[in-house]
Amino acid sequence: VKKKAGGYAKQADKIEQAAVLGAGIMGGGIAYQSASKGTPIVMKDIQADAVELGLKEARKLFNKQVERKKLTAAQMAERLSYIRPTLSYGDFGDVDLVVEAVVENPKVKGAVLAEVEAEVSDDTMLASNTSTISITRLAENLKRPEQLCGMHFFNPVHRMPLVEVIRGEKTSDAAVAATVAYAQAMGKTPIVVNDCPGFLVNRVLFPYFGGFSLLVEQGVDFARIDKVMEKFGWPMGPAYLLDVVGMDTAVHALHVMAEGFPERMARDSKTAIEVMYDHDRLGQKNAKGFYAYE
Ligand code: NAD
Repeated sequence: VKKKAGGYAKQADKIEQAAVLGAGIMGGGIAYQSASKGTPIVMKDIQADAVELGLKEARKLFNKQVERKKLTAAQMAERLSYIRPTLSYGDFGDVDLVVEAVVENPKVKGAVLAEVEAEVSDDTMLASNTSTISITRLAENLKRPEQLCGMHFFNPVHRMPLVEVIRGEKTSDAAVAATVAYAQAMGKTPIVVNDCPGFLVNRVLFPYFGGFSLLVEQGVDFARIDKVMEKFGWPMGPAYLLDVVGMDTAVHALHVMAEGFPERMARDSKTAIEVMYDHDRLGQKNAKGFYAYE
Protein backbone atom coordinates (compact mmCIF):
# COMPACT_ATOMS: atom_id res chain seq x y z
CA VAL A 1 0.00 0.00 0.00
CA LYS A 2 1.33 3.40 -0.92
CA LYS A 3 -0.01 5.93 1.53
CA LYS A 4 0.36 9.19 -0.38
CA ALA A 5 -2.27 8.67 -3.07
CA GLY A 6 -2.65 12.46 -3.23
CA GLY A 7 0.91 12.78 -4.55
CA TYR A 8 -0.11 10.98 -7.72
CA ALA A 9 -2.95 13.38 -8.47
CA LYS A 10 -0.54 16.27 -8.89
CA GLN A 11 1.12 14.40 -11.76
CA ALA A 12 -2.08 14.06 -13.78
CA ASP A 13 -4.06 16.42 -15.97
CA LYS A 14 -7.64 17.03 -14.93
CA ILE A 15 -10.14 14.51 -16.26
CA GLU A 16 -12.34 16.74 -18.44
CA GLN A 17 -14.55 13.98 -19.78
CA ALA A 18 -15.12 10.52 -18.30
CA ALA A 19 -17.14 7.50 -19.37
CA VAL A 20 -18.60 4.53 -17.55
CA LEU A 21 -19.47 1.15 -19.07
CA GLY A 22 -22.50 -0.36 -17.36
CA ALA A 23 -25.39 1.66 -15.92
CA GLY A 24 -26.21 -0.78 -13.11
CA ILE A 25 -25.92 -0.29 -9.36
CA MET A 26 -22.27 0.75 -9.56
CA GLY A 27 -22.13 2.32 -13.03
CA GLY A 28 -25.21 4.45 -12.29
CA GLY A 29 -23.71 5.49 -8.94
CA ILE A 30 -20.39 6.42 -10.59
CA ALA A 31 -22.21 8.51 -13.22
CA TYR A 32 -24.18 10.35 -10.54
CA GLN A 33 -21.12 11.03 -8.40
CA SER A 34 -19.06 12.27 -11.34
CA ALA A 35 -21.83 14.58 -12.56
CA SER A 36 -22.58 15.77 -9.08
CA LYS A 37 -18.96 16.93 -8.64
CA GLY A 38 -18.81 18.54 -12.09
CA THR A 39 -17.08 16.02 -14.38
CA PRO A 40 -19.18 15.21 -17.47
CA ILE A 41 -19.60 11.48 -18.03
CA VAL A 42 -20.88 9.30 -20.85
CA MET A 43 -22.83 6.33 -19.44
CA LYS A 44 -23.01 3.34 -21.78
CA ASP A 45 -24.91 0.10 -21.34
CA ILE A 46 -26.08 -2.58 -23.74
CA GLN A 47 -29.67 -2.40 -22.47
CA ALA A 48 -31.92 0.63 -22.87
CA ASP A 49 -33.79 -0.19 -19.62
CA ALA A 50 -30.52 -0.20 -17.68
CA VAL A 51 -29.62 3.26 -18.96
CA GLU A 52 -33.12 4.51 -18.07
CA LEU A 53 -32.86 3.05 -14.58
CA GLY A 54 -29.38 4.55 -14.07
CA LEU A 55 -30.70 7.99 -15.03
CA LYS A 56 -33.78 7.57 -12.85
CA GLU A 57 -31.63 6.77 -9.81
CA ALA A 58 -29.40 9.79 -10.51
CA ARG A 59 -32.46 12.03 -10.80
CA LYS A 60 -33.76 10.70 -7.49
CA LEU A 61 -30.44 11.48 -5.73
CA PHE A 62 -30.29 14.98 -7.27
CA ASN A 63 -33.91 15.59 -6.22
CA LYS A 64 -32.98 14.78 -2.63
CA GLN A 65 -30.23 17.42 -2.85
CA VAL A 66 -32.79 19.95 -4.06
CA GLU A 67 -35.19 19.01 -1.22
CA ARG A 68 -32.38 19.55 1.26
CA LYS A 69 -31.67 22.89 -0.41
CA LYS A 70 -28.13 21.87 -1.29
CA LEU A 71 -28.86 22.44 -4.98
CA THR A 72 -31.25 24.71 -6.86
CA ALA A 73 -33.48 23.23 -9.54
CA ALA A 74 -31.32 24.96 -12.19
CA GLN A 75 -28.13 23.48 -10.72
CA MET A 76 -29.79 20.06 -10.67
CA ALA A 77 -30.71 20.35 -14.35
CA GLU A 78 -27.15 21.37 -15.20
CA ARG A 79 -25.55 18.49 -13.24
CA LEU A 80 -28.00 15.99 -14.68
CA SER A 81 -27.05 17.17 -18.17
CA TYR A 82 -23.45 16.12 -17.41
CA ILE A 83 -24.61 12.49 -17.69
CA ARG A 84 -24.82 11.50 -21.34
CA PRO A 85 -26.64 8.16 -21.66
CA THR A 86 -25.87 6.03 -24.69
CA LEU A 87 -26.00 2.53 -26.14
CA SER A 88 -23.12 3.10 -28.57
CA TYR A 89 -19.45 4.12 -28.58
CA GLY A 90 -20.21 7.16 -30.74
CA ASP A 91 -19.40 9.60 -27.92
CA PHE A 92 -16.13 8.05 -26.77
CA GLY A 93 -13.72 10.05 -28.96
CA ASP A 94 -12.91 12.77 -26.36
CA VAL A 95 -12.96 10.66 -23.23
CA ASP A 96 -9.91 10.93 -20.90
CA LEU A 97 -10.78 7.98 -18.66
CA VAL A 98 -13.25 5.08 -18.96
CA VAL A 99 -14.44 3.19 -15.88
CA GLU A 100 -15.64 -0.33 -16.69
CA ALA A 101 -18.48 -1.40 -14.35
CA VAL A 102 -20.15 -4.31 -16.19
CA VAL A 103 -21.00 -7.70 -14.68
CA GLU A 104 -18.33 -9.48 -12.57
CA ASN A 105 -17.29 -12.01 -15.21
CA PRO A 106 -13.66 -12.11 -16.40
CA LYS A 107 -14.59 -13.10 -19.97
CA VAL A 108 -17.18 -10.33 -20.34
CA LYS A 109 -14.90 -7.75 -18.73
CA GLY A 110 -11.91 -8.81 -20.86
CA ALA A 111 -13.99 -8.53 -24.05
CA VAL A 112 -15.54 -5.19 -23.06
CA LEU A 113 -12.16 -3.66 -22.18
CA ALA A 114 -10.60 -4.78 -25.48
CA GLU A 115 -13.65 -3.43 -27.33
CA VAL A 116 -13.52 0.00 -25.70
CA GLU A 117 -9.74 0.22 -26.12
CA ALA A 118 -10.29 0.07 -29.88
CA GLU A 119 -12.84 2.91 -29.71
CA VAL A 120 -10.97 5.49 -27.64
CA SER A 121 -7.88 7.54 -28.43
CA ASP A 122 -4.40 6.15 -27.64
CA ASP A 123 -3.97 8.24 -24.50
CA THR A 124 -7.32 7.41 -22.88
CA MET A 125 -6.89 5.64 -19.54
CA LEU A 126 -8.97 2.61 -18.60
CA ALA A 127 -10.08 1.57 -15.13
CA SER A 128 -12.04 -1.45 -13.90
CA ASN A 129 -14.39 -1.46 -10.93
CA THR A 130 -13.92 -5.20 -10.44
CA SER A 131 -14.22 -6.42 -6.84
CA THR A 132 -12.34 -9.69 -7.24
CA ILE A 133 -10.63 -10.10 -10.63
CA SER A 134 -6.89 -9.51 -10.99
CA ILE A 135 -6.08 -6.30 -12.89
CA THR A 136 -2.97 -7.98 -14.33
CA ARG A 137 -5.21 -10.70 -15.76
CA LEU A 138 -7.73 -8.19 -17.18
CA ALA A 139 -4.87 -6.33 -18.89
CA GLU A 140 -3.81 -9.47 -20.78
CA ASN A 141 -6.19 -8.84 -23.69
CA LEU A 142 -5.20 -5.21 -24.12
CA LYS A 143 -2.84 -3.60 -26.61
CA ARG A 144 -1.94 -0.94 -24.02
CA PRO A 145 -1.99 -2.86 -20.71
CA GLU A 146 -0.06 -0.08 -18.98
CA GLN A 147 -3.12 2.16 -19.33
CA LEU A 148 -5.38 -0.05 -17.18
CA CYS A 149 -5.72 0.07 -13.43
CA GLY A 150 -8.36 -0.91 -10.90
CA MET A 151 -10.80 1.68 -9.55
CA HIS A 152 -12.79 -0.10 -6.88
CA PHE A 153 -15.74 1.89 -5.55
CA PHE A 154 -17.97 0.69 -2.73
CA ASN A 155 -21.74 0.54 -2.65
CA PRO A 156 -23.54 2.96 -2.45
CA VAL A 157 -21.04 5.02 -4.45
CA HIS A 158 -22.39 8.43 -3.37
CA ARG A 159 -22.02 7.57 0.33
CA MET A 160 -18.84 5.50 0.57
CA PRO A 161 -15.75 7.74 0.67
CA LEU A 162 -13.03 5.17 -0.10
CA VAL A 163 -11.85 4.13 -3.57
CA GLU A 164 -9.15 1.49 -4.03
CA VAL A 165 -6.86 2.28 -6.98
CA ILE A 166 -5.21 -0.98 -7.99
CA ARG A 167 -1.90 -1.18 -9.73
CA GLY A 168 -1.53 -4.26 -11.97
CA GLU A 169 1.89 -5.62 -12.98
CA LYS A 170 2.06 -3.43 -16.09
CA THR A 171 0.08 -0.39 -14.87
CA SER A 172 1.94 2.87 -15.48
CA ASP A 173 2.32 5.72 -13.00
CA ALA A 174 0.39 7.89 -15.45
CA ALA A 175 -2.64 5.54 -15.29
CA VAL A 176 -2.51 5.50 -11.48
CA ALA A 177 -2.16 9.30 -11.40
CA ALA A 178 -5.15 9.83 -13.71
CA THR A 179 -7.33 7.47 -11.68
CA VAL A 180 -6.30 9.02 -8.36
CA ALA A 181 -6.99 12.51 -9.77
CA TYR A 182 -10.44 11.44 -10.97
CA ALA A 183 -11.30 9.82 -7.61
CA GLN A 184 -10.31 13.05 -5.85
CA ALA A 185 -12.30 15.17 -8.29
CA MET A 186 -15.29 12.96 -7.40
CA GLY A 187 -14.79 13.88 -3.73
CA LYS A 188 -13.46 10.45 -2.79
CA THR A 189 -10.41 9.29 -0.83
CA PRO A 190 -8.27 7.09 -3.07
CA ILE A 191 -5.72 4.62 -1.76
CA VAL A 192 -3.25 2.99 -4.12
CA VAL A 193 -2.89 -0.75 -3.52
CA ASN A 194 -1.13 -3.62 -5.24
CA ASP A 195 -3.03 -6.24 -7.21
CA CYS A 196 -3.89 -9.19 -4.94
CA PRO A 197 -7.02 -11.21 -4.07
CA GLY A 198 -9.40 -8.97 -2.12
CA PHE A 199 -7.18 -5.90 -2.62
CA LEU A 200 -7.09 -4.23 0.81
CA VAL A 201 -10.64 -3.79 2.12
CA ASN A 202 -11.89 -7.30 1.35
CA ARG A 203 -8.71 -8.79 2.80
CA VAL A 204 -9.72 -7.24 6.10
CA LEU A 205 -13.48 -7.68 5.76
CA PHE A 206 -13.67 -11.31 4.67
CA PRO A 207 -11.62 -12.79 7.52
CA TYR A 208 -14.02 -10.84 9.78
CA PHE A 209 -17.03 -12.40 7.99
CA GLY A 210 -15.27 -15.77 8.37
CA GLY A 211 -14.93 -15.24 12.13
CA PHE A 212 -18.58 -14.21 12.35
CA SER A 213 -19.58 -17.32 10.40
CA LEU A 214 -17.68 -19.64 12.77
CA LEU A 215 -19.52 -18.17 15.76
CA VAL A 216 -22.89 -18.67 14.05
CA GLU A 217 -21.93 -22.27 13.21
CA GLN A 218 -21.16 -22.79 16.91
CA GLY A 219 -24.70 -21.71 17.73
CA VAL A 220 -24.32 -18.04 18.64
CA ASP A 221 -27.34 -15.93 17.65
CA PHE A 222 -26.37 -13.72 14.67
CA ALA A 223 -28.54 -10.84 15.92
CA ARG A 224 -26.64 -10.81 19.22
CA ILE A 225 -23.34 -10.60 17.34
CA ASP A 226 -24.72 -7.65 15.36
CA LYS A 227 -25.79 -5.88 18.55
CA VAL A 228 -22.36 -6.39 20.11
CA MET A 229 -20.52 -5.10 17.04
CA GLU A 230 -22.82 -2.06 16.89
CA LYS A 231 -21.99 -1.33 20.54
CA PHE A 232 -18.35 -1.75 19.62
CA GLY A 233 -18.87 1.14 17.22
CA TRP A 234 -19.42 -0.34 13.77
CA PRO A 235 -22.33 1.32 11.92
CA MET A 236 -23.88 -2.14 11.38
CA GLY A 237 -23.08 -5.69 12.44
CA PRO A 238 -21.75 -8.45 10.15
CA ALA A 239 -25.10 -10.22 9.56
CA TYR A 240 -26.79 -7.01 8.43
CA LEU A 241 -23.75 -6.04 6.35
CA LEU A 242 -23.83 -9.45 4.63
CA ASP A 243 -27.51 -8.88 3.83
CA VAL A 244 -26.54 -5.57 2.21
CA VAL A 245 -23.63 -7.06 0.24
CA GLY A 246 -25.70 -10.06 -0.89
CA MET A 247 -24.91 -13.71 -0.12
CA ASP A 248 -24.12 -14.49 -3.80
CA THR A 249 -21.49 -11.76 -3.95
CA ALA A 250 -20.13 -12.76 -0.53
CA VAL A 251 -19.83 -16.46 -1.47
CA HIS A 252 -18.04 -15.55 -4.69
CA ALA A 253 -15.58 -13.29 -2.81
CA LEU A 254 -15.07 -15.94 -0.10
CA HIS A 255 -14.04 -18.43 -2.79
CA VAL A 256 -11.63 -15.93 -4.35
CA MET A 257 -10.10 -15.27 -0.94
CA ALA A 258 -9.86 -19.01 -0.09
CA GLU A 259 -8.10 -19.63 -3.39
CA GLY A 260 -5.74 -16.68 -2.90
CA PHE A 261 -4.97 -17.31 0.78
CA PRO A 262 -5.73 -21.01 1.44
CA GLU A 263 -3.67 -21.07 4.64
CA ARG A 264 -5.92 -18.39 6.15
CA MET A 265 -9.26 -18.69 4.41
CA ALA A 266 -9.81 -22.28 3.17
CA ARG A 267 -12.43 -24.35 5.03
CA ASP A 268 -13.26 -28.09 5.05
CA SER A 269 -16.93 -27.49 5.75
CA LYS A 270 -19.43 -24.99 4.43
CA THR A 271 -19.57 -21.58 6.07
CA ALA A 272 -22.88 -20.29 7.43
CA ILE A 273 -22.75 -17.77 4.57
CA GLU A 274 -22.66 -20.60 1.99
CA VAL A 275 -25.52 -22.40 3.77
CA MET A 276 -27.60 -19.21 3.56
CA TYR A 277 -26.78 -18.97 -0.15
CA ASP A 278 -27.78 -22.64 -0.71
CA HIS A 279 -31.15 -21.84 0.87
CA ASP A 280 -31.65 -18.87 -1.49
CA ARG A 281 -31.36 -16.40 1.37
CA LEU A 282 -29.51 -13.78 -0.65
CA GLY A 283 -30.08 -10.80 1.64
CA GLN A 284 -31.81 -7.52 0.84
CA LYS A 285 -31.83 -8.25 -2.91
CA ASN A 286 -34.47 -10.97 -2.47
CA ALA A 287 -35.84 -9.66 0.84
CA LYS A 288 -34.59 -12.63 2.90
CA GLY A 289 -31.16 -13.04 4.36
CA PHE A 290 -30.15 -13.25 8.00
CA TYR A 291 -33.07 -10.85 8.52
CA ALA A 292 -36.40 -10.71 6.68
CA TYR A 293 -37.26 -7.56 4.72
CA GLU A 294 -40.62 -6.17 3.56
P1 NAD B 1 -25.24 -4.70 -12.17
O1 NAD B 1 -25.67 -6.05 -12.60
O2 NAD B 1 -26.14 -3.84 -11.36
O3 NAD B 1 -24.86 -3.85 -13.49
C1 NAD B 1 -24.09 -4.33 -14.54
C2 NAD B 1 -24.53 -3.60 -15.82
O4 NAD B 1 -23.60 -3.89 -16.86
C3 NAD B 1 -25.92 -4.03 -16.33
O5 NAD B 1 -26.74 -2.88 -16.47
C4 NAD B 1 -25.62 -4.66 -17.69
O6 NAD B 1 -26.62 -4.43 -18.66
C5 NAD B 1 -24.32 -3.93 -18.06
N1 NAD B 1 -23.53 -4.58 -19.10
C6 NAD B 1 -23.30 -5.91 -19.28
N2 NAD B 1 -22.49 -6.07 -20.36
C7 NAD B 1 -22.20 -4.81 -20.84
C8 NAD B 1 -21.44 -4.32 -21.93
N3 NAD B 1 -20.83 -5.16 -22.77
N4 NAD B 1 -21.35 -2.98 -22.09
C9 NAD B 1 -21.99 -2.12 -21.28
N5 NAD B 1 -22.75 -2.55 -20.23
C10 NAD B 1 -22.85 -3.87 -20.03
O7 NAD B 1 -23.82 -4.90 -11.45
P2 NAD B 1 -23.11 -4.00 -10.34
O8 NAD B 1 -23.50 -4.46 -8.99
O9 NAD B 1 -23.26 -2.56 -10.72
O10 NAD B 1 -21.59 -4.47 -10.53
C11 NAD B 1 -20.78 -3.97 -11.59
C12 NAD B 1 -19.31 -4.20 -11.22
O11 NAD B 1 -19.00 -3.50 -10.02
C13 NAD B 1 -18.93 -5.66 -10.97
O12 NAD B 1 -17.64 -5.87 -11.45
C14 NAD B 1 -18.96 -5.77 -9.46
O13 NAD B 1 -18.11 -6.77 -8.96
C15 NAD B 1 -18.43 -4.40 -9.08
N6 NAD B 1 -18.80 -3.96 -7.73
C16 NAD B 1 -20.06 -4.15 -7.25
C17 NAD B 1 -20.38 -3.71 -5.97
C18 NAD B 1 -21.78 -3.90 -5.44
O14 NAD B 1 -21.94 -3.83 -4.21
N7 NAD B 1 -22.79 -4.08 -6.27
C19 NAD B 1 -19.42 -3.08 -5.18
C20 NAD B 1 -18.13 -2.86 -5.71
C21 NAD B 1 -17.83 -3.31 -7.00
